Amino acid sequence: MEKDKNETIVIPGDFVGTSEEFTAGNGVCAEEGNLFALQIGEVSVNEQREISVLPAVETPPVIKEGTVVVGRVEDLKEMVAVVSLACVVGKEQREIVAPTQAVIHISNVKTGYVNELQQEFGVLDLVKAKVIDAKALRLSTEERDLGVIKAMCGKCKSELKRKGNVLVCERCRREETRKISYDYGKGVV
Ligand code: ZN
Repeated sequence: MEKDKNETIVIPGDFVGTSEEFTAGNGVCAEEGNLFALQIGEVSVNEQREISVLPAVETPPVIKEGTVVVGRVEDLKEMVAVVSLACVVGKEQREIVAPTQAVIHISNVKTGYVNELQQEFGVLDLVKAKVIDAKALRLSTEERDLGVIKAMCGKCKSELKRKGNVLVCERCRREETRKISYDYGKGVV
């Protein structure tokens, strides 16, 4: 008995099917034979067995490819970091109205191999990222000025200070790693 896939609401990182069942369409990525949602939306399967995730919310018009945005890391999945967008760099006073979620796929975090996302981002970190796919709301933090701009200690929640390539907590001496932006600690822009 096959469950009707259409109209199921998914969030980034949700398993939507296997490559044997479907081909990956918009808003879906394939990882080792499994298909995952890249955005929040409704699952839709067409006659060619192509599975897509259609955005449930409309993308604010101001966001397009190449736009640099600031957002907060909401969740870390195995393959994607889920980021809620706060503002567009250069237009900070104009809040992004709809609660918009974007994703950073593990392959778009930095140049070079990423072992696990937990070493690059922490939940509630503020990140600066570039939009690489405005429709699916996929972001990249590969460039030098992109990445984490503000982070809190995982233990005591103090703001972490940058020390070379790592972040340290002055209160509890904890050391954490991140994909740190060149602009870390300089404020939002
Ligand atoms: Zn601490």
